[in-house]
Amino acid sequence: MALVNAKEMLTKAKEGHYAVGQFNINNLEWTKAILLTAQELNSPVILGVSEGAGKYMCGYKTIVGMVNGMIDELKITVPVALHLDHGSYEGAKACIAAGFSSIMFDGSHYPIDENVAKTTELVAICNEKNLSIEAEVGSIGGEEDGVVGAGECADPNECKMIADLGVTMLAAGIGNIHGKYPDNWQGLNFDVLADIQKLTGKMPLVLHGGSGIPEEMVRKAIDLGVSKVNVNTECQLAFAAATRKYIEAGKDTQGKGFDPRKLLAPGFEAIKATVKEKMELFGSVGKA
Ligand SMILES: [Zn+2]
Repeated sequence: MALVNAKEMLTKAKEGHYAVGQFNINNLEWTKAILLTAQELNSPVILGVSEGAGKYMCGYKTIVGMVNGMIDELKITVPVALHLDHGSYEGAKACIAAGFSSIMFDGSHYPIDENVAKTTELVAICNEKNLSIEAEVGSIGGEEDGVVGAGECADPNECKMIADLGVTMLAAGIGNIHGKYPDNWQGLNFDVLADIQKLTGKMPLVLHGGSGIPEEMVRKAIDLGVSKVNVNTECQLAFAAATRKYIEAGKDTQGKGFDPRKLLAPGFEAIKATVKEKMELFGSVGKA
């Protein structure tokens, strides 16, 4: 199956009261682990690519080639969207040109008028090319932005304004942050989420910083209208821990344990296990 835009899978998720996971990719192992898990669990999936990961993987065209190649070679039949995560205006345009099926334009750092103007332009381009587009209102703090914030809450009226521009999905800060959550974290603000949901109706809402939010909070957020949850840090931690265990056990020094296909295998399996756990939590298993 060719790449799809995320609109249909998220509309179904919203109606069915579950969420589709966005799992960010970093390399071949990541991409293969996520695609195979989605296929095994018959779940729709969104592959997220940050601009930094895009540079690391030799650019957006390389990524499009790798993902399309894997979908074909691995016989992936579940719906897969390839999505730019926290895209700049220029990055969004570059991904559209390279063949991504979905983009996020993060205009949250612009004044609201400029965010509206740029989002409007990108919505028109995405509609013409049948791509999905995510917008962000209110800044979602955390390590990804180089700032460790407490997690801001979006203004529900600004959410409504951006939703009305015709975006496919809307990311709104409700106290969530990127990266690891600090010990004194206040938790998600469900009152703000309920207000946003009331004003934006059928618009699928996106929860960023999904790594480390307690499971019952994730479930409640999905009940209140979240249809996409972004996971990044948790796969990285799982990969690192499994790789560390392999090396600390000295397995890379035994036989051909140094072979990258062996050295990276525990990390690959750890990503698969993390993705499976998340798809079960989000309720997307069997929904492809
Ligand atoms: Zn994010």
